[in-house]
Amino acid sequence: MSFKGRVYRKGEPGYEEARVGRIFNGRSPERSPELIVFAEDEEDVAQAVRLARAQGLRLAVRAGGHSWAAWSLREGALLLDLSRLQGMAYDEATGVVAVAPAVQGGATLAPYLEARGRMFHGGHCPTVGLGGFLLQGGMGWNCRGWGWAAEAVVGLEVVTAEGERVRANAKEHADLYWAARGAGPGFPGVVTRFYLQTRPLPRALTQTTHVYPLDCTAEVLAWLQEVHAQVDPRVELVALSLVPPGFGERALVVHGLAMVDSPAEGREALAPLETSPALGKALLRQVAEPTCFEDERREQLRQNPEGARYAVDNAWLQGPPEAVVPRLVEAFTTPPTPETFALWFSMAPLRPLPDMALSLQSEIYFALYTIWRDPADDARCRGWLAQQMRRLEPVTLGQYLGDSDFTTRSLRFMREENWARLQAIRAQRDPLGLFVGYLTNDERRLNRNPWEDHA
Ligand SMILES: Cc1cc2nc3c(=O)[nH]c(=O)nc-3n(C[C@H](O)[C@H](O)[C@H](O)COP(=O)(O)OP(=O)(O)OC[C@H]3O[C@@H](n4cnc5c(N)ncnc54)[C@H](O)[C@@H]3O)c2cc1C
Repeated sequence: MSFKGRVYRKGEPGYEEARVGRIFNGRSPERSPELIVFAEDEEDVAQAVRLARAQGLRLAVRAGGHSWAAWSLREGALLLDLSRLQGMAYDEATGVVAVAPAVQGGATLAPYLEARGRMFHGGHCPTVGLGGFLLQGGMGWNCRGWGWAAEAVVGLEVVTAEGERVRANAKEHADLYWAARGAGPGFPGVVTRFYLQTRPLPRALTQTTHVYPLDCTAEVLAWLQEVHAQVDPRVELVALSLVPPGFGERALVVHGLAMVDSPAEGREALAPLETSPALGKALLRQVAEPTCFEDERREQLRQNPEGARYAVDNAWLQGPPEAVVPRLVEAFTTPPTPETFALWFSMAPLRPLPDMALSLQSEIYFALYTIWRDPADDARCRGWLAQQMRRLEPVTLGQYLGDSDFTTRSLRFMREENWARLQAIRAQRDPLGLFVGYLTNDERRLNRNPWEDHA
C-alpha cells in the first residue's frame, strides 16, 4: 500500500510552513527535520516509521504542536505530523470515547462530548492536542479532585518502533500502557488512538472569583495553603497573578470552579473561599455564580495568545506556608510584561496515583507563563523566569513535564523507580533509539534536581 499523506524534504517548497506552521509558541526554534511527513491514517503512520528506519533517520512526533519548547522539531530527524488524525467515536454503553491524537481536547472533543451530556477532564487551553497532553499525564479540569487525565486512559492503539500496530491496555502490551501515562516524549511508540473514560457533564458549573490588589499576595497565598486541603474535591482551585479583563493593572485572582450539579451544591462547595482574611480588600468579588465550560475556555484562549513568544517553567512545591510563600511573592508581583501570568494550582489533598509512569506531584503546582512579543525582550523575559524559578529551589520537589523545557532547566519529573522502569521499557521497545525522546542538552542529567547533586 502506498503512502497517502504529504512529504516535505528540507529545502523544498512548503517545507518551512510544514516545519513551524503548527507550532504554538511564536519563539519557534531553528531546528530542522530532514523530512516532514503528514500521515493520513494509521497505516501511513506505520509506513512513516518504516521509512525512518530505512533511511536511518530518528523519528519525532507532532500531534497538536503545543509543547512549549517545540519538542517535535529535531535536527535531522523525520518529523511525523499527525494533524490529519482527527477521529472521535463515543460509545454510550461504556462511556468510553475513542479519539485520534491530534484532536484538540477543548476546542473539538469537549463540544462533541457536551452534546452527549458527557465530558473528559482535558486540558484548560482549548487548542492543546490530546497526544502530547495525555502522554505527559495531562493536568486537566479539576486535576485536584478527579486526577490526572492519563488516569482516565483505558487503552491505546500504538505503532511500535518496528512499525507494527498493537493495542495496549492493562492486559495487552501493558508495558506500553504503563509508559503512555506519563512518559511524554520518552514514549517508545506512536499513539494513533486513545480510549478515554468520560464522566457526566456537571449540570451546574459554579464559580467564585476574588480579585485582590497585588499587595495581598503573601496573605492570600498563605491562607490558601492552610485551607486548600479542606476544600470540596469537586472544586478546582487556583490563584493567578495577571491583568484581569476590565482591569488596567495586574492583580491577584483567586478562582474556584465547582464541578457540581446544582447551584446549592456550588454555593456549599465554594463557601470556604469566603474565609479569606483579605476579603475586605477585594477589588472584585463574585460568589458562587453560574458559569459554563465555553466561557472558561474563552478565558483560557485570552490568557494564552497564539503566536506570542513564550518561556514557561514550573515546580512542584513542598514545605509549610512560611517557607513557600515568601519565595513566591516576587514571581506574583514583578512579571516583566502585562501578558505574563503566574499560576498557583491546588492539588491538595494529594490523591494516591495508580501504577503508571507519571509519579511525581505535590500539593502545590506552580507555573510561570512568561509572554512577550518583541524578540528584543527575549533575554530580559527569560532571565526573569530563570531567576524566579531559582528562588524556589529550596521548596521544589521537581517539575511537571507538560510545562517544562529541559534545554533551559531539567529537574526530576518521575520517581526514581518509575524512571528506571521507563528506561527498561524504552530499551526493550526501541533498542535502536528510533524515537528522538526527551529534548535535553544532556541525557545523563534527566530526572535529577541539579542542586541535589551538589548537596
Ligand atoms: C496554551 C497552552 C496551554 C496549556 N495548558 C495545559 C494544561 O492545562 N494542562 C496540561 O497538562 N498541559 C498544558 N499545556 C501543555 C501541553 O499539554 C503540552 O505542551 C503538550 O505536550 C501539548 O501536546 P500537543 O500534542 O499539542 O503538542 P506536540 O508538540 O504536538 O506534542 C508534544 C510531544 O508529545 C509527543 N507526542 C504527541 N503526540 C504523540 C503521539 N500520538 N504519539 C507519540 N508521541 C506523541 C511527542 O514527543 C511530541 O513532540 C499547555 C500548553 C499550551 C501551549
